[in-house]
Amino acid sequence: MSSLQQEVERRRTFAIISHPDAGKTTLTEKLLWFGGAIQVAGEVRGRKAARHATSDWMELEKQRGISVTSSVMQFPYRAHMVNLLDTPGHDDFSEDTYRTLTAVDSAVMVIDSVNGVEAQTIKLLNVCRMRDTPIITFINKLDRESRAPIELLDEIETTLGMECAPMTWPIGMGKTFRGVYNLVTDSILFFDPRAEKGTSETIQGIDNPRLDELIGYQAQELRVDIELVRGASNEFNKERYLSGKQTPVFFGSAVNNFGVQSLLDAVVDLSPPPQARQTATRAVAANEEKFAGFVFKIQANMDPKHRDRIAFLRVCSGRFERGMKIKQVASGKMLNVNNAITFMAQDRTIMDEAYSGDIIGIPNHGTIKLGDTFTENEALKFIGIPSFAPEFFRRARIKNPMKMKQLQIGLKQLSEEGAAQLFRPLLSNDLILGAVGMLQFDVVAHRLEHEYGVDMVFEPYDCYTARWLKGSDADLKAIANKYGFNVGLDSADDYVYLAPNRVNLQMAQERYPDIQFMETREIA
Ligand code: GDP
Repeated sequence: MSSLQQEVERRRTFAIISHPDAGKTTLTEKLLWFGGAIQVAGEVRGRKAARHATSDWMELEKQRGISVTSSVMQFPYRAHMVNLLDTPGHDDFSEDTYRTLTAVDSAVMVIDSVNGVEAQTIKLLNVCRMRDTPIITFINKLDRESRAPIELLDEIETTLGMECAPMTWPIGMGKTFRGVYNLVTDSILFFDPRAEKGTSETIQGIDNPRLDELIGYQAQELRVDIELVRGASNEFNKERYLSGKQTPVFFGSAVNNFGVQSLLDAVVDLSPPPQARQTATRAVAANEEKFAGFVFKIQANMDPKHRDRIAFLRVCSGRFERGMKIKQVASGKMLNVNNAITFMAQDRTIMDEAYSGDIIGIPNHGTIKLGDTFTENEALKFIGIPSFAPEFFRRARIKNPMKMKQLQIGLKQLSEEGAAQLFRPLLSNDLILGAVGMLQFDVVAHRLEHEYGVDMVFEPYDCYTARWLKGSDADLKAIANKYGFNVGLDSADDYVYLAPNRVNLQMAQERYPDIQFMETREIA
């Protein structure tokens, strides 16, 4: 095997998806700790606390240096190189969260065993489904009085439409939580919250008398349970997992370190190495010799006066080396990348090289756009980096009308960067912003003021959702004439229907059956 092939094969690039409070931050931290990437538990939590103690964007600004480096965490584990991409939740939930999922090869879904499947999990999972991303499930907080495991699996199957294949099975829960039985290796891991790594002992075989010695009557219960589980549930099937149809399920308690190592092992053993990526013209295999990649996220950085940004690029093929010249396909310009940022969780130094699956951060002054493809020379265009239908809307109103031009320019540029989406209804002069997370509006207002010198306010705008319209010119013209106040153009001049409410959306769809009303739009 060539060394390039080896480097690609050993990489695993994934994100964690969950509803707020399910334990993503805790799990991230424990994964880093088990991976040897951090020495003291608490580092990640500290960052989160710093992020969330402040709701003010000015303060967030100060934290941005931190959030750049914590958005990708790379660390070696066993013979592998793991890239864990952060998908911010909570207040800073934004389109970036969604788009980050287009840059991974697999995901870990964390479910709170008390709350089961929650709203944000469903949203994020739907994004994973667009690319059939393989998902490993971690059911967390077994040290609490949880729902019955079988009920949780049932809920995942019915609400998320994926088969569950339990890999481990919990022994008791809450106060009687004793550990997990591993259905694949026929071994038992005992839970001990006082043990350094959450486990006091591991034994082999469900009939092992040591089991009865350690947990008494629960041993017999477990044997009965496992017989039932084996009869009633799916066995793990790698193909079904890799095609997103089945999810292997692990149980544990992240805060107690329990089940985390098994999960990390599963990430490197089960989840796929970097996969081929589709471009407008051909699929690009991860082990191709020539470098290629795409930008899935842009983050304004540090000093807003200099319009400094970091473009996050996912390497899709070949090898990147510091100082390399790469081509921005859209502009045809060659870029000499001397200062790419590394994301090694341990020591953050200038990166020397990166392979398919890795993420590099490229500092720039606004020349790199969201969705940009970079190659050594070939004119490729990666596809599958979408905009998502916003759920929140605001009308931008300027305080000083003389600055209208700057406002328009600023909004256009910020929307190209993916900070928020801009819509211009055909029959009004309104500038409507759409977002999937409320914090996006604060970010835009702050950046307009500091980077473009525009003082503006956001007013409420009554809109239920937006749909991109696809159809014949005649049909689009007809719908534009009919609903001119609610049909507008986005920043790429594509038609969008801004639905005031659900009923209007339905009526419009019925009236124009030949028009497609799309929830996502490919970034051109
Ligand atoms: P996030 O919002 O998904 O990032 O969740 P956090 O990691 O911040 O966790 C939310 C809360 O759940 C925190 O108070 C954690 O200490 C707690 N937590 C995380 N894992 C566990 C667990 O295994 N058991 C219990 N009882 N609490 C947990």
